Amino acid sequence: MKDYYAILGVGRDATQEEIKKAYRQLALRYHPDKNPGDKAAEERFKEINEAYAVLSDPEKRAQYDRGLLGEGSVKVEDLFDLFAQVFGFRPQGRPAPRGEDLEVQVEVELRDLLRGKEAEVAYSRLVPCEACGGQGGRRVACPTCGGQGVVESYQRGFFGTFVSRTPCPHCKGQGFLLAEACPVCRGRGRVAREERIPVKIPPGMGEEHLLRVPGYGNLGPGGPGDLYVRLKVRPHPHLEREGPDLVYRLKLGLAQAALGARVEVPGLEGPIPLEIPPGTGHGEVFELPGEGLPHPGGRGALRVVVELVVPKKLSPKAKELLRAYAEEVGEEVAPEGFWEKLKGLFRK
Ligand SMILES: [Zn+2]
Ligand SMILES: [Zn+2]
Repeated sequence: MKDYYAILGVGRDATQEEIKKAYRQLALRYHPDKNPGDKAAEERFKEINEAYAVLSDPEKRAQYDRGLLGEGSVKVEDLFDLFAQVFGFRPQGRPAPRGEDLEVQVEVELRDLLRGKEAEVAYSRLVPCEACGGQGGRRVACPTCGGQGVVESYQRGFFGTFVSRTPCPHCKGQGFLLAEACPVCRGRGRVAREERIPVKIPPGMGEEHLLRVPGYGNLGPGGPGDLYVRLKVRPHPHLEREGPDLVYRLKLGLAQAALGARVEVPGLEGPIPLEIPPGTGHGEVFELPGEGLPHPGGRGALRVVVELVVPKKLSPKAKELLRAYAEEVGEEVAPEGFWEKLKGLFRK
């Protein structure tokens, strides 16, 4: 494992402020913009960023200190973004950041997934403040950098003098200062706006899918982010969903199961008649192909799962008939009044 403290040139007990300071100095010195074509400097820049990504995060730092951070578990997604974050600055040539992506949930009925649905989603996103035109208030050019966002200094190096361009510390590389903050957005340049937009929910869409609506996220200087629509299907009174298939739990009485029955299954598009053959057992499954939800290859099935219902309460007549039945098929059953007596024993 690399010694991140050594890379940043700080002690193991360095404060967050010291770590940040060391990072700023080294990152500026080894930034690829300043060392064009220098592979060693680029490697060094990567190392510095990796070290800073770990040591600036108290949780990761603690793990690293205890040797719990595995090699390769540190990923610096975008070196330049980390750099920009610390300096509040974008190195030249980098595009302005897009607005943030947003996520919103839309509720539909199971039935809606059969043909898809035009739904309206309501949500709130950040858009440029109209009062200040997204400027955040009255801007004045930064006197330190003359509005350039960068300051240049000449440094003498081993191979000669070179120009060092660093983000202006006064305006954090923005090139301007706010002379007066806009009272509407309080200097942020963006305000929340309620939106209502139509979205088309495709047939068979799953709750695990996200529908992307490009350009409907927050608006940033580099354009809008995207909106992601997550689906929530309201529970159906009879049907459960399993991917493209539907499941219906059919309750069957003892006589129905033994003698067979003609039943109706509440399908998504209306009742479906179903013949239950004599001698159907608990847990048996009848599959109705093409009665499920649409998927790219067609439509799923509706699975009818049999649940045998044993009566808890019987009329005297029904009891009598069941006893006669038991005698006929030779099933041994508890004698009459047996359970009542047993309960009486425990109540004493
Ligand atoms: Zn400046
Ligand atoms: Zn404003």
